[in-house]
Amino acid sequence: RSSSECALDSERVRVAVRVRPRNAEELLPESDFVECVELQPELKRLKLRKNNWTSESYRFDEVFTDTASQRRIYEAVAKPVVESVLNGYNGTVMAYGQTGTGKTYTLGKLGKDDTSERGIMVRALEDILSSISPAFDSVEISYLQLYMESIQDLLAPEKINIPINDDPKTGEVSLPGASVVKIQDLDHFLQLLQIGETNRHAANTKLNTESSRSHAILMVYVRRPVHENAKDGPTSQEKVSSSGSNGIPVVRKSKLLIVDLAGSERLDKSGSEGHMLEETKFINLSLTSLGKCINALAENSPHIPFRESKLTRLLRDSFGGSARTSLIVTIGSSARHYAETTSTIMFGQRAI
Ligand code: ADP
Ligand code: MG
Repeated sequence: RSSSECALDSERVRVAVRVRPRNAEELLPESDFVECVELQPELKRLKLRKNNWTSESYRFDEVFTDTASQRRIYEAVAKPVVESVLNGYNGTVMAYGQTGTGKTYTLGKLGKDDTSERGIMVRALEDILSSISPAFDSVEISYLQLYMESIQDLLAPEKINIPINDDPKTGEVSLPGASVVKIQDLDHFLQLLQIGETNRHAANTKLNTESSRSHAILMVYVRRPVHENAKDGPTSQEKVSSSGSNGIPVVRKSKLLIVDLAGSERLDKSGSEGHMLEETKFINLSLTSLGKCINALAENSPHIPFRESKLTRLLRDSFGGSARTSLIVTIGSSARHYAETTSTIMFGQRAI
């Protein structure tokens, strides 16, 4: 399909599953490790074994074994979204899964010592920066954390409770007050990611929580001047910020969201009290409403319930419609986590 077709049909969310390699603890002989996942990558199938007699098979758009490289994941899952963002469409890449299954590794790994370990955020910026022309185009980022339905700026952590502004006419989402930093080069971006990471840890230590309970959201804004009669890319008025005539370039704006979701395990946990209970409700709210939106898209429903949580309100203009969306669900393969793994797989299946 060509990029101009994207604007017409509403694209469902594409879902990949990635299995984390066994960790040191799971490799110990005394860990009695029992595998509950069996993959058939060529068939894009994953089999989940409950016991010796019962197993269930699921189909995904992509299935990655624990030996899949960061590069392969990027190329299969994120690159098509990045390319469409470079062509003027919005897009989203998200990771969903139990804490410890590799969401942050997949999306946010900096790969300082070994560039082959770089995750999707760094690779996406690398691709975007090398595709644009610095003299005319610009790349800017915001980096945010969403915790208990409150948005905090990870590049300026004193900014909390940042409001979401969604323009009722254009559906465009913006965050008045959030810092937006123009990226000079990849090193500059790596520095900002590092700062964001440090602020995320500091904020969570102060709140006495773990970062696994918040969503981290990287927003990448791309602006490119194009000639009015350019054939591909969006032509709708709302995508064009300033129009000119007779060959004066108009600026095409698009946005890439990379979302490291809160750990999904709390979806099932009950019995928490007080603050923990409140927190659980809020995490449930955003992940549950995300699930509903993914479902609605998959069913081609005319109504996508974006308004139900801050997470889905943020995603509104970068999710479904002409926007490309990829979801990576991350799992471990230990039978010990069979229940959590099943619930993660079922979440991914909602899109298919
Ligand atoms: P999450 O963000 O889902 O809680 P992390 O990304 O922090 O999980 O991963 C947990 C641990 O497993 C980390 O130490 C990470 O480096 C490691 N890990 C995750 N996925 C992989 C992978 N594909 N290859 C190597 N190590 C991985
Ligand atoms: Mg993480």
